Amino acid sequence: MSNNNISNQQQPYSDFDLQYIAGEWVKGQDNSVNTDNNPFSGETLVEIQQATETQLDEAYKAAQKAQKQWAKTLPSERASLLYKVVEILDKRQDEIVDWLIKESGSTRIKAMVEFGSARAITIEAATFPNRVHGEIRPSNIPDKQNFAYREPIGVIAVISPWNFPLHLTQRSIAPALALGNAVVLKPASDTPITGGLLLAKIFEEAGLPKGLLNVVVGAGSEIGDAIVTHDIPSFVSFTGSTSVGKHIGELANGGDMIKSVALELGGNNPFVVLADADLDNAVKAAVFGKFLHQGQICIAINRIIVEDAVYDEFVQRFVEHVKTIKVGDPSDKDTAIGPIINQDQLESLKDKIAKANKQGAKTLLSGEIKGQLVPPHIFSEVTKDMDLFRNEIFGPLVGIVRAKDEDEALELANDTEYGLSSSVFTTDMEKGLRFARGIRAGMTHVNDITVNDESNAPFGGEKNSGIGRFNGEWVLEEMTRLHWVSYQHQPRDYAF
Ligand code: NAD
Repeated sequence: MSNNNISNQQQPYSDFDLQYIAGEWVKGQDNSVNTDNNPFSGETLVEIQQATETQLDEAYKAAQKAQKQWAKTLPSERASLLYKVVEILDKRQDEIVDWLIKESGSTRIKAMVEFGSARAITIEAATFPNRVHGEIRPSNIPDKQNFAYREPIGVIAVISPWNFPLHLTQRSIAPALALGNAVVLKPASDTPITGGLLLAKIFEEAGLPKGLLNVVVGAGSEIGDAIVTHDIPSFVSFTGSTSVGKHIGELANGGDMIKSVALELGGNNPFVVLADADLDNAVKAAVFGKFLHQGQICIAINRIIVEDAVYDEFVQRFVEHVKTIKVGDPSDKDTAIGPIINQDQLESLKDKIAKANKQGAKTLLSGEIKGQLVPPHIFSEVTKDMDLFRNEIFGPLVGIVRAKDEDEALELANDTEYGLSSSVFTTDMEKGLRFARGIRAGMTHVNDITVNDESNAPFGGEKNSGIGRFNGEWVLEEMTRLHWVSYQHQPRDYAF
């Protein structure tokens, strides 16, 4: 909860033009500058001199050194640190939400959702130090005991995207630190503050020992590959696009070392409306699940698939509802659609609109693009060969697809190289669960949007949406190493 009394007394964080390496705020030594802009107003928020590969190396060495001590701390000490972070998140809520709005173009609604998710994973991570446990297994060798220990991995490389920067960074670094690891983090160039430097300030204020969390802001060309190929990290937690994720996966296992990777990648998430669905519910969900954060969410609705019997009615009601939502200044509390993050993304959306028209989709709603504000675009009679159906959109455009029956709806839902999230609407629980289990994806929600992330439920995808799971015991296992140790109590009888 926000506490205005406290937040009025405290100084807002500053000096976001610096890197955070080995527990010190230092100037980047590369010649290039990262200009961090407000995507709505165009205002320059900060200019950051970028880091060099030498500075990245310093960060890794500091992390490696600090981690050795950190791994020896009592679980209660690490848990307290995480609870302290939650306290700071709460007292600085307004400041954090404000940064999300101005740096990532989040609407106030989305910024609050994101803040809540980042807070929830921090609380979950605070329970991890006391939840790590091993096992004792029987042995078929006389007088032997088998132990399976879970230990910290060491140093973890984290690379995060710009769309939910605070949450998607925190869901890697909070568990990593809670479990006795150190982190070197590279935030996305569009969100170096909310995706990294702001969290470093928070952990520093909470008293995290120096060197355990390093934030390196740098050009992909200078440090992009090196952050993965450096010999210190043995685990890379990457969240971003499928194309970059594939490259990271190759790098992590292409050189002299084999590294573990968690890849949380793109999606092409189907939202299926079956003939017996509660249409009021389905329409409201479709609008929120499609247009939250301008559609720039990996688990946003990408395709709406509607059974023929209710297609026309759904489409009509959906368009009517979308016409009522406000596009504009993300800081206004009733704005639903704010700016697109950058020019490249904007160009890719213009290209998708042109392709939809060229490929014969029927335009039901469109509007003028002003600056980086793209109004909702709705296309009907979308077919499975069209770009809108096949590829991730990442913007406020959507195609609606007609399915002749439930079987075809399932076939269409599965007709994708991706497998992240999905939804189905039906009033029949039996049917809903059967349909859900027929979808090849990491996550399916019956009678809810595709956009769900709970700190204690397994989040992740399959196929080209990636490997690995966040949250709960799934991330606890991912961010620890398993070590089989046996103890031979009496000498064994060897054959020679
Ligand atoms: P991106 O792949 O362009 O960038 C992600 C991160 O990788 C950024 O920090 C970027 O600077 C870095 N990067 C780029 N090239 C690199 C390289 N060669 N080496 C190392 N790092 C490199 O993705 P984005 O545009 O920031 O985010 C949008 C994409 O992320 C979408 O496809 C979306 O679906 C996906 N995403 C997935 C999830 C998930 O949980 N599955 C969550 C959010 C976003």
